[in-house]
Amino acid sequence: MSEKKPILVTRSSMPPYEEFIEAIRPLWESAWLTNMGCFHQELEARLTEYLQVPRMKLFVNGHQALEMTLQAMELRGEVITTPFSFASTTHAIVRNGLTPVFCDINSEDYTLDATKLEERITEKTSAIVPVHVYGNLCQVEEIERIAKKHGLKVIYDAAHAFGVKRNGVGVGNFGDASMFSFHATKVFHTIEGGGVAFSEESLGTRLDYLKNFGIVDKETVKYAGGNAKMNEFQAVMGLCNLRRLDGEIAKRKRVAARYRERLSGVPGIRLTRPQEGVTGNYAYFPVIFDGYSAGRDEIYDRLAAAGIGARKYFYPLINRYDCYRAQYDYRETPVAAYLADRVLTLPCYAELEEIEVDRICDVILGEQE
Ligand SMILES: *Cc1c(COP(=O)(O)O)cnc(C)c1O
Repeated sequence: MSEKKPILVTRSSMPPYEEFIEAIRPLWESAWLTNMGCFHQELEARLTEYLQVPRMKLFVNGHQALEMTLQAMELRGEVITTPFSFASTTHAIVRNGLTPVFCDINSEDYTLDATKLEERITEKTSAIVPVHVYGNLCQVEEIERIAKKHGLKVIYDAAHAFGVKRNGVGVGNFGDASMFSFHATKVFHTIEGGGVAFSEESLGTRLDYLKNFGIVDKETVKYAGGNAKMNEFQAVMGLCNLRRLDGEIAKRKRVAARYRERLSGVPGIRLTRPQEGVTGNYAYFPVIFDGYSAGRDEIYDRLAAAGIGARKYFYPLINRYDCYRAQYDYRETPVAAYLADRVLTLPCYAELEEIEVDRICDVILGEQE
């Protein structure tokens, strides 16, 4: 019997080696490696087109993109977000000297529960940072309506939602800005990388300054910026990956379909219902174990013992992190707390074979030999 090879929770999409090598060759001629070179410009244009957004700026990673967007908006006081996200979302708020206020999520798609949003708003609130969790679209109209009424900015953490559309409209068109992550583990990647989509031209100018130390010209430094520029090697990786992206998403779609075939209708296992009119990107395959014959942690351990890497994503909640728990009570976001104890994201990537999905499902369903 052959040893079964371990299955990791994700695996980065790679362009063919020769294609990448050929694509970076011009860098040895130009020796222009960063600072908005020609590949950076080309990727920015291509992504603006692909995501169907008015404007876009690229960054060294998604986190810096979010942090600098919040800085560019000169926010004050409190910013409402959810604790059911990756560390980056809340950290970006805190690192701007702002106070995060946690709103609960809904149990359908795990995004900010807009019915609980207004009660979180105070006279100190300046913005909302909702998260399109697992690529599920937030309740964008309701969030927009409330934000308008109270004069708040809306910055989406769209790190999971690259390429997601609703009725043909790209996800990056909602709110004042949307941050995308191009990290190696995301659907589309530039090794590390990120971007912000937005419509207001002046925001783009400011982002350009902020990611380059606030430098406006040779003798003018207007802002206390940082360094968050995407380099040319990252941009080339992005250009190569973008060519193959639709094919990669189609393969992920097959993975998700197989999981659904095997796991839907099993008592105690809950899958996310696809959203009306939304074209997904199949970035993650979350499963909720609620009343199943085994708990989430037991399933996680069983999978690990079989060499399969699932992920407790998101667990723990951000309001339970060591760095935040003293200021927050996670019981104020009960739905998020409930789901964080029951959710598992299963391995999901383009190269995952059907036979491997079956092996994962066999372990979950207790059907392995
Ligand atoms: C990946 C991710 C980020 C951060 O993006 P990086 O490119 O890794 O800096 C932020 N928010 C969420 C929800 C993410 O998944």
